Amino acid sequence: MPIKGMCFLMAQNQVDYDIALILSLCFFKRKTCRQTDGKRKSTNPNPWGGDFRVHPINVQGNEVYLAIRGQWQAFEDQQVVDMLGRTIQTQRDFWKDHSQEYFTVTLIPTQLDRGSSMGGTGLTNSFAANASNNKYLDFSGLSWLFNHELMHNWIGHTIKNAN
Ligand SMILES: [Zn+2]
Repeated sequence: MPIKGMCFLMAQNQVDYDIALILSLCFFKRKTCRQTDGKRKSTNPNPWGGDFRVHPINVQGNEVYLAIRGQWQAFEDQQVVDMLGRTIQTQRDFWKDHSQEYFTVTLIPTQLDRGSSMGGTGLTNSFAANASNNKYLDFSGLSWLFNHELMHNWIGHTIKNAN
């Protein structure tokens, strides 16, 4: 797949600093990550490497990637691709901010026999999510999680309290 994350895909099954750097920077054409507050020097790369399937999504001319791994019991990749595209489109419309040229979302499976469990972390031009891979997974909960993590792209980063 001729996308900018190719170097990441070629480095399968290794999780180390280089991979973290590759995953966070490859998708951004090796440019410095966007500094949302104009001051932060360090970035929070999305530190996952492995046998991900990377789905490019175009949101009004800007590139979004869903990097997903695992054989999921509760959904097909395409459902997450569609949900992520809609979520990003909706929130960027709300904030009137389609300024991010690149954004990457990772989704990895965790093991849980019963019930549904998920979590996420907002990162630079990215968020990382995990969810339990069983038939009980609540897909609407995953949509809520994606909305929440994407919200941190603006609240708690771009918008800061005065003191
Ligand atoms: Zn939060």
